[in-house]
Amino acid sequence: MALIVQKYGGTSVADIVRIKAVAERVAASAREGNQIIIVVSAMAGETNKLEKFAHDITENPPEREMDLLLSSGERITSSLTAMAIQELGFNSKSFTGRQVGIRTDSSHTKAMIESIDASRLEDAMKEGVIPVVAGFQGINEFSDVTTLGRGGSDTTAVAIAAALKADVCEIYTDVEGVYTTDPRIVPTARKLDKISYDEMLELASLGAKVLHSRSVEFARKFDVPILVRSSFNDAPGTLVTKEDKDMEEVVISGVAADKNQSRVTILGVPDKPGIAAKVFNALSDSNIAIDMIVQNVSSETQSTDISFTVSKSDSKKASVVSNNVSGELEAKGVTMDEDVAKVSVVGAGMQSHVGVAAKMFEVLSNEGINIMMISTSEIKISCVINVSRAEDAVKTLHKAFELE
Ligand code: ADP
Ligand code: ASP
Ligand code: MG
Repeated sequence: MALIVQKYGGTSVADIVRIKAVAERVAASAREGNQIIIVVSAMAGETNKLEKFAHDITENPPEREMDLLLSSGERITSSLTAMAIQELGFNSKSFTGRQVGIRTDSSHTKAMIESIDASRLEDAMKEGVIPVVAGFQGINEFSDVTTLGRGGSDTTAVAIAAALKADVCEIYTDVEGVYTTDPRIVPTARKLDKISYDEMLELASLGAKVLHSRSVEFARKFDVPILVRSSFNDAPGTLVTKEDKDMEEVVISGVAADKNQSRVTILGVPDKPGIAAKVFNALSDSNIAIDMIVQNVSSETQSTDISFTVSKSDSKKASVVSNNVSGELEAKGVTMDEDVAKVSVVGAGMQSHVGVAAKMFEVLSNEGINIMMISTSEIKISCVINVSRAEDAVKTLHKAFELE
């Protein structure tokens, strides 16, 4: 008998027909003798709809209120799914994040899970109950509801799998697994049988939204195997697991694009010690996560431009904070470019192969795509480009690195 956490994403619970189909899948797994915990997302489009309601009231919705609002989407599907499972003759109960003791920090709208009290789920399972947990949410130290960031139900599922030492965490979605790139952009993308935690973490944080990047971090830390598969058929899916020899031999395993980026530049900052710390402390005090950073000192003017990228949802806040800091530092001003995207190539084999970066830059240049920023790690190379060329870049890189 295996303990399996199954997470169903928005399209998998998009309507009552789909919720009943999920219940059938859960029932089949329970009949095989498995112990199952279900985690559900909100119905497809529901979170966007709730966000829009808030933006129709105010330009800057307070983040505490946003969290309570958005958490309701997952509550709806958890209770409906529990009812559908009961209809098939099984004992099932729905739970909110709070009810299963998911404690997070207080960064509203992108909270991090700090702990999970496994006892409530363990007690339920001892009574033969199939728990259905509302994904994407927890509570902070003040008992206020928090959410884990868009796509965060994956993280709820993996964190529960880690806390209960489940054998596997199955992520059911609307594609058959993890592909060499988004199969909706490149129809010839290839499904991977398996991928290492490190590569998946890079792909996820670089825009491959098939998994929430925090979920992969949890899986890697607590050694939880993740199986990504479709809730619409029985295809075998992709296993996300520890790196092995076969994986190291593949130079590039995937290409990702993130269009949810903005680039901020603080112009003409004096070149003195402590300036970068001042800028980035101010941004972090406002709960803004920074991605790429580029600083270029001009030896002639003794001043520097500091450019960085933030997610689009933070760009207004980042602009206000940067303008304040710019004033304090007597810099020359701030520019904001919201029409940018980050394209990246990822592969564990990059560590032992040379020339990958050169090839990426050449491929983009042959396509007439201008590179604004570059960042690298051992297993990835990312370039910031104009958003209007993001899909061309993905297609041409996917082809050039022979991923079809
Ligand atoms: P869910 O609602 O089930 O959580 P998401 O929409 O969050 O599903 O994630 C699945 C989507 O991720 C797919 O429909 C696909 O368009 C997109 N995607 C992006 N990159 C990849 C990739 N490399 N492999 C598979 N899917 C990807
Ligand atoms: N419903 C949330 C979202 O749309 C969380 C999730 O689906 O994982 O982002
Ligand atoms: Mg998702």
